[in-house]
Amino acid sequence: MSADVIVSGAGPVGLLTAALLDSAGVKVEVLERLTERSGNSRAAVLHPRTLEILTTVRAGDGRTLTDVLLSHGRAVPRTHFGMLPQLLDYSVLDTPYPHILQITQATTERVLASLVEARGIPVHYGQEVTGFEQDDTGVRVHAGGTVHAARYLVGADGAWSQVRQQAGIKFPGTPGNTVSYLADVHLDAAPQNATHVWDPVDGWVAVVPLFDGIHRVFGVLAEDTGLAPEQVAARRSQPLTLDDLRGILNRVTGTDYGLRNAVWISTAGNTTRHATQYRAGRVFVAGDAAHVHFPAGGQGVNVGMQDAVNLAWKLAAEVKGWATPLITGGAASYDRERRPVAVSLAQNTQAQTALMTTFTPQGAALRELMSTLLARPETNAHLAGLLSGLSASYDAPDGGHPLDGHRAPDLGLPDGDTLLRRLRVNRFLLLDFTPAVELAALGSPLVEVIPAAPWSELAAALVRPDGYIARAWTRAEPEQVRAALTDWGAL
Ligand SMILES: Cc1cc2nc3c(=O)[nH]c(=O)nc-3n(C[C@H](O)[C@H](O)[C@H](O)COP(=O)(O)OP(=O)(O)OC[C@H]3O[C@@H](n4cnc5c(N)ncnc54)[C@H](O)[C@@H]3O)c2cc1C
Repeated sequence: MSADVIVSGAGPVGLLTAALLDSAGVKVEVLERLTERSGNSRAAVLHPRTLEILTTVRAGDGRTLTDVLLSHGRAVPRTHFGMLPQLLDYSVLDTPYPHILQITQATTERVLASLVEARGIPVHYGQEVTGFEQDDTGVRVHAGGTVHAARYLVGADGAWSQVRQQAGIKFPGTPGNTVSYLADVHLDAAPQNATHVWDPVDGWVAVVPLFDGIHRVFGVLAEDTGLAPEQVAARRSQPLTLDDLRGILNRVTGTDYGLRNAVWISTAGNTTRHATQYRAGRVFVAGDAAHVHFPAGGQGVNVGMQDAVNLAWKLAAEVKGWATPLITGGAASYDRERRPVAVSLAQNTQAQTALMTTFTPQGAALRELMSTLLARPETNAHLAGLLSGLSASYDAPDGGHPLDGHRAPDLGLPDGDTLLRRLRVNRFLLLDFTPAVELAALGSPLVEVIPAAPWSELAAALVRPDGYIARAWTRAEPEQVRAALTDWGAL
């Protein structure tokens, strides 16, 4: 093998990273420890920002990856924060996708694996990465008794990432003290809609319809909180049985909903950690390899896929030789932009864990208060922005426009297309809002110049391949725009 990039791990983050790199003309191969895909569902939700940005990727039949995923899932406008009775309302969000998409991780992975296969990207199953060396020219990756050479290595190999450990990247955080249970089950007396019961003495249970008659049952028992690390380990080492699950449902809700059988039963903890660096030389970490947390609000796979989107265009630029210091190690590097997102993720999942698992009268009172606040439009907007991924933004240099670093909305374009559908992993969009300014001459294979209808009193905006505004101008002199393109490597 002699690839530009080797990706370790064929989970959702590794597969998406590979597909994006390939779209940018990068030669990529994937090494996966398992001999075949696991098929476990785990994450059951994709959030709006993930759906927005996956429009960048084309499936084999010309549809966007988002369109394909939408056809396999269910759009639901409300979701929970901390399992509070008052739900978050996504319908107010300014996005073409003002909803969560209920879709099992197994389906998301199947769609991604088909895409990767259709693109002809080699995925080598049964190849566990056990080590690597790197120097100024590349990496030598050890897997399955063979050494694979490449210029870069991406560790998308999950929470126990070998790549992270062998790169010497630290993974500090908070040990878990809570164990939740989750199961995909058949119920003979299922509730009509998604439901949850939170009891200040026993714990909580949520029941959500998935697909093909399967429901996801998940929750936390009061005695599974406040545990010491060895108690967490002991608890998680005991497999949960169907009878255990039936007992939990009866105890917390007063019914077992006609629990018939389970296709998958598991537990999850609330260990919360994130990597101190996302890059070590020619080696990167992404997804669960870079951050782990309690599965609250269905965010893990979403933040991981957005890591992939942030990383892929910058790494492709490096491979293709047009990356500038700004994106390789400067303020707009993958490491500098994505680590703060993991910090925010850790904070919001810790806060949700407290709301979900403080089984006391005080905890119940806090939930009541928070629910009242959540009914206020401004609180809803703040928390929906956070969980949906839509309010994530990146640092911008001082003295720029307030929109710099923020996500570009899905503006309509004069030819009937929209901004999101026009994004590509290997080019910037230069939106020219004032035809008076002559920017067309700045077009190139790396920059598509698009005359656009007036927006936000701007003269022009440079939009990155991942849909964030690199620079916005209320007065755009071609020389200023040219300087920005140079900074970002697009000139
Ligand atoms: C029980 C449970 C429930 C969850 N529920 C949710 C949820 O509701 N919503 C949500 O958003 N998230 C949820 N998550 C988290 C979500 O599943 C993860 O965030 C997501 O899978 C991360 O994707 P990834 O590609 O980074 O890592 P993974 O999915 O872990 O994929 C890593 C891949 O790397 C492979 N690998 C590992 N080591 C090596 C090696 N040395 N060499 C080669 N390959 C290797 C693994 O076999 C695997 O295929 C849950 C997680 C768990 C465990």
